[in-house]
Amino acid sequence: MQTSFQIAFIGAGNMARAIIGGLLAQGLPAQQIIACEPDLERLRDLEAQGIQIRSDNASAVRQADLVILAVKPQIMRDVCTPLRAAAAEKHPVFLSVAAGIRIQALADWLGADLALVRSMPNTPALVGKGACGLFANAQVTEQQKQEISQVMQATGLTLWVDKEDELDAVTAVSGSGPAYFFLMMEAMIAAGERLGLSPDTAKALTLQTAAGAAEMALQSEWDPAELRRRVTSPKGTTEQAILCFQQGGFSPLVDQALQACHQRAVELA
Ligand code: NAD
Repeated sequence: MQTSFQIAFIGAGNMARAIIGGLLAQGLPAQQIIACEPDLERLRDLEAQGIQIRSDNASAVRQADLVILAVKPQIMRDVCTPLRAAAAEKHPVFLSVAAGIRIQALADWLGADLALVRSMPNTPALVGKGACGLFANAQVTEQQKQEISQVMQATGLTLWVDKEDELDAVTAVSGSGPAYFFLMMEAMIAAGERLGLSPDTAKALTLQTAAGAAEMALQSEWDPAELRRRVTSPKGTTEQAILCFQQGGFSPLVDQALQACHQRAVELA
């Protein structure tokens, strides 16, 4: 990976370590990463990988070109406010991975003239298969956006949205999306068991089918609707299951679920 950015992580929990792991795997030199974190055990682990560690968030900001804010949303304000002076001196780009924290709030806490990016990652980032939406304010340059794309691609797919409100839709589709697929897997495993399979067999078949269907959809020239039609022979077994889903209102239910998620994301931000 080619970036000259010094990248500071404020908070080195699950999400930060997923990004750091991806960056190291892609060959970013560990010395370009700075981690700030109150948990000493986490810091020692990172130090052992050659990462620069700091106990003072502001000193990390003074050294960084990109600051990734990876603390829980409820403490973001208390973490950001003391960084205002360091931010005004160094002017790094700040990128928040926190759910529901608006750019305007970051600007109020850190400084109105700063380059700020808000992201909505998802949990498969932890295994390098994340999907992340990004929104930048007007102060972020095209060059900075390219560097940030490279950094966030360390955890999977990254896409920029033009309007901040779109991140609420990103939340409904990919941010919360992994849980929808887990729910589907849960239901299929239980149904497989009721049909006489052992729990291990039902689980193994379900997970491999989910992974295989996703991989096929990613690789295929056809969209998911066409792929579904192609595996649904008239009067065949799959058709019976699909008819059952349709009669039960599957698509309107999914629509309703995503609307509810979107509404909650709007309320929380
Ligand atoms: P986490 O609890 O694993 O990590 C947060 C880290 O911040 C902890 O290691 C904690 O010790 C550290 N911290 C606490 N106070 C601090 C301070 N004052 N200065 C510096 N560090 C401090 O949480 P996480 O799951 O990594 O989530 C971090 C952010 O990522 C959250 O805002 C969350 O909304 C967002 N996010 C996470 C996921 C996910 O899959 N885990 C998905 C989407 C968004």
